[in-house]
Amino acid sequence: MTKSKAQKNAPDTFRALQTAHPDAHCELDHRSAFELLVATVLSAQSTDVAVNQVTPELFRRWPDPEALGSAATADVEQALGRLGMFRQKAKNIVGLSQRLQQRHGGEVPCNLDDLVALPGVGRKTANVVLGVAFGAPAGVVVDTHVQRISQRLGWTKNTTPDKIESDLMTLFPRDQWDNLSHTLIFHGRRICTARKPACASCSISDTCPSAFAAENVGRKPPKRPPPLEPSTAPPRKGKAQPKTKAASGQAATPGKAPQSPKSSRTSSVRSSKKAARSTKRS
Ligand code: SF4
Repeated sequence: MTKSKAQKNAPDTFRALQTAHPDAHCELDHRSAFELLVATVLSAQSTDVAVNQVTPELFRRWPDPEALGSAATADVEQALGRLGMFRQKAKNIVGLSQRLQQRHGGEVPCNLDDLVALPGVGRKTANVVLGVAFGAPAGVVVDTHVQRISQRLGWTKNTTPDKIESDLMTLFPRDQWDNLSHTLIFHGRRICTARKPACASCSISDTCPSAFAAENVGRKPPKRPPPLEPSTAPPRKGKAQPKTKAASGQAATPGKAPQSPKSSRTSSVRSSKKAARSTKRS
């Protein structure tokens, strides 16, 4: 590929980031490849901090694949209570533990193909385990921080994790892949945050092509509200349907529910009775 200026400068920029974050490392607490694998599966859509709060008790109760593979899923769900998607995650970590027992002698495999065959394990999780536990990454871990910062630094024009990973693997040698993702994640959490990147205190602002104008670079597009559903009720024959505010796409007046045909009939009966009483009196 023809390299842009930012891509040519990438090795120097990365060195400056390494100097800024010399302690960059995987922030999921673990003591073995098995604990790292489980913690990484649990980290999908959850913060490392939240995962680190549940794993001590989880690994105290079920310390290895044999124990976790024979646990009742309902008990594991309860232990994961604080995490999002806890039901699916409980099913995955019990399932992957069983598979480790059945096919890998209770050990975590150290190759990509066997890892991604485990329940709940995708390429990103597999690369975390290969890089951190075995020092042999098969690619670059591209999470939301790596994705955003690679775009802001001009290292990629792509927006999908697979293509960004491919660009980063071309720009950097294999022995830097593991540290590259940890360093970018550290920088993304501490300085180059999604909403308010701290460009004024960033050590690479003199070379960053997005400096002081990064708010909208590399961010996920805002979620749009779903389109209003057209009314599915068939029109009544011979009678025009009254247009309600909701049907015309406007919000109904808060606190005022539209009057149903039944309630309008009830009120007309009430009015007739009232009229009859007043005639009687007169
Ligand atoms: S200068 Fe700003 S946009 Fe560029 S890496 Fe630093 S914080 Fe992020």
